[in-house]
Amino acid sequence: MNRGQDVIVVGGGVWGSAVAYELAIRSMRVLLLDVTLPGRATSASAGGLWPVGEAVGLGCGVIYHATGNSESGDESTPNVLPDLFRDFLIASNKRFPALAKTLLEQTGVDIEFDIGTGLMFLMYTDYEQAIVDNIARSLPQEQRLKILSPEEVVQVEPKITHELTGAALLPEEHQVNPMLLAEAYKRAAIRAGATFRHDTQVTGFRRDGDRIIGVEIGEEFLPSNLTVNAAGSWSRKLAATAGIDIPVSPIRGQVVLTERLPRILQGCISTSECYLIQKSHGEVLIGSTTECANFDVSVTHDSITSLCRGAVRAVPMLRDVGIKRVWSGLRPGTPDELPILGPIEGVTGIINATGGFRTGIVAAPLMAEIVAQTASEESPTFPIAPFYSSRFLETVID
Ligand SMILES: Cc1cc2nc3c(=O)[nH]c(=O)nc-3n(C[C@H](O)[C@H](O)[C@H](O)COP(=O)(O)OP(=O)(O)OC[C@H]3O[C@@H](n4cnc5c(N)ncnc54)[C@H](O)[C@@H]3O)c2cc1C
Repeated sequence: MNRGQDVIVVGGGVWGSAVAYELAIRSMRVLLLDVTLPGRATSASAGGLWPVGEAVGLGCGVIYHATGNSESGDESTPNVLPDLFRDFLIASNKRFPALAKTLLEQTGVDIEFDIGTGLMFLMYTDYEQAIVDNIARSLPQEQRLKILSPEEVVQVEPKITHELTGAALLPEEHQVNPMLLAEAYKRAAIRAGATFRHDTQVTGFRRDGDRIIGVEIGEEFLPSNLTVNAAGSWSRKLAATAGIDIPVSPIRGQVVLTERLPRILQGCISTSECYLIQKSHGEVLIGSTTECANFDVSVTHDSITSLCRGAVRAVPMLRDVGIKRVWSGLRPGTPDELPILGPIEGVTGIINATGGFRTGIVAAPLMAEIVAQTASEESPTFPIAPFYSSRFLETVID
């Protein structure tokens, strides 16, 4: 008889895989179910580990021209995330050196954790300089943001344009290969006892009163004590099958990948128009738009052209370089751009691990740790309550 799993995790992107790993090493019986849907975020991602850059709006530079998803509503300034989340991302980022080593030892998968010179935001105008000066003043002492003159920029990155007012360098911001990170987590989870079922689309959560008691795959029912919703951009649809609303929506990001090049960038580059990361085999990844496009994963001429224009402005030699591939992916976005983690008010047997939006790669290690700690009733190493879905419940005023 199938006595059910301790935990069923739905979604095998980096979040589901990381959670499966953290649960499995806590000796839970874990089953992970995944189907490959077009636009899944992890395989579309750039792999930037930019905790401060993203938190202050200098990472995914195109966020400047945000999509109306930004709470500030002001499209001309970077969207700054709360300090609590910045600290969360910094703490998660710090786990990468040891994590890369552990995953390599346990699985043989090298996640291509690449330190480089950091994340460098290029400033083209006095206005951008003023914004960055403000950001630098607002950051705590220990979070180093170094302002570089155009001459200093060229010393660090000789291929960068000379048409700059300067740059902001965040030396602790690195990159990783997101697909290999997810793969390594998955293999490590299996090694620790988890089971994976691919090509398996969960059609619904089964609810009995106020409790989720398992998942449905068409006619098949799989019982579990706990179900984790890690279905990325699809997690809202899935939650709705049990009458639960979590406000996750797909935010499209379009990406361009150049042909392989000799090493031309020493670190990650961002501007108000695009970001550039040279990957381990030499291709330069140019990202990314931030668009509400529902589940449409097309790439558009205008967006690709504008990303390429931004990249050539930053690194003029790219004008003559061929394009190998373009694609788009769906970030699991939330209204306040923070993840949705932990239990759901009024419903037991289910836990959220979703809403990674534009920081889902850097956030994955700490997110998985605190979700698994909550599931196993340990006290979390970082407060998880600020990320509960209950923050979106309407306040009723008598
Ligand atoms: C273009 C782009 C660039 C990005 N760059 C960065 C970056 O530089 N740094 C950073 O930190 N983050 C970045 N992100 C964000 C990051 O990639 C995401 O936040 C993260 O990958 C989310 O992972 P996930 O596992 O939640 O979602 P996904 O990777 O989308 O995984 C969800 C999985 O669930 C599956 N699924 C859905 N429904 C079901 C179902 N009913 N049954 C079974 N399986 C189901 C899907 O097919 C998918 O495999 C980027 C994202 C994009 C799109």
